[in-house]
Amino acid sequence: MRTISKKFDRVEVCRNCKGSGKSPMGGTCPVCNGTGMIDKHLDIDITIKPHKNDNRR
Ligand SMILES: [Zn+2]
Repeated sequence: MRTISKKFDRVEVCRNCKGSGKSPMGGTCPVCNGTGMIDKHLDIDITIKPHKNDNRR
């Protein structure tokens, strides 16, 4: 078995402030810290199982 770790870095528009960087309640958006963009890091582990040729019928 093998495990492959993949990392995805994506930048998305902040949904909390819709990219404005300002909180709807006033002040700086706490989610994106006023940048309006969010860095998303996805760590995915993919496990590959060896193919078994068990085609006995
Ligand atoms: Zn925001």
